[in-house]
Amino acid sequence: MNKNGMLIVISGFSGVGKGTAVKKLVEKYGYSLSVSATTRAPRVGEVDGVDYHFKTVEEFQNLIDYNGFIEWAQYVENYYGTPKKFVEDELAKGNNVILEIEVQGAMHIKEQYPDAVLIFITAPDADTLKERLEGRGTEDAKVIAKRLKRAYEEIDDMVQYDYLVVNDDLDVCVDDIHSVICAESFRSTRNNDYMRNMKTELETIRKDY
Ligand code: 5GP
Repeated sequence: MNKNGMLIVISGFSGVGKGTAVKKLVEKYGYSLSVSATTRAPRVGEVDGVDYHFKTVEEFQNLIDYNGFIEWAQYVENYYGTPKKFVEDELAKGNNVILEIEVQGAMHIKEQYPDAVLIFITAPDADTLKERLEGRGTEDAKVIAKRLKRAYEEIDDMVQYDYLVVNDDLDVCVDDIHSVICAESFRSTRNNDYMRNMKTELETIRKDY
């Protein structure tokens, strides 16, 4: 039915495992994933152009100046932005596009694309979130403290999202997100073209009968 591509925004607390969930979602269900630009240094194993487009602050500023982002935000000490061209091209092709971005960016997307589906991935409880952040072993204590503070602030933004999905078991979380996206695609207001066509066709059939 629904032929239009949907913009799907996925946010979640730092350390909640949303990167892994999104990767699995893309592998298993074939969604288009937007690769963001960032001024953050690559973590071990991260590949330029795959995990992020790694940029200097000057390069990032240039992209802002040339209107290259549909949104950008500062998160902790770095800049992150969603390149405009990829998203617009994929939506025009009718593909569902996933943006894995933080809360400020998600709110900008909601303003510009009111039809976007906003999903927030959360942890079963606060202790689990802290353990996952510590267990990742990629950030020092100061950065972990900042990310926990940010998580505390983000609690008040969760209500702005359409859906909350708990990442307790990764496979369940991935399938839950996919179910949400499927259900959204069946929403009557996303299928106006189908309803219009059905009406036209029935009108013809009815007359000829
Ligand atoms: P990390 O440094 O852990 O990869 O990402 C930090 C935060 O930045 C995460 O919450 C991630 O979702 C967010 N982020 C990644 N790309 C973008 C983007 O293009 N725009 C915005 N607003 N946030 C992003």
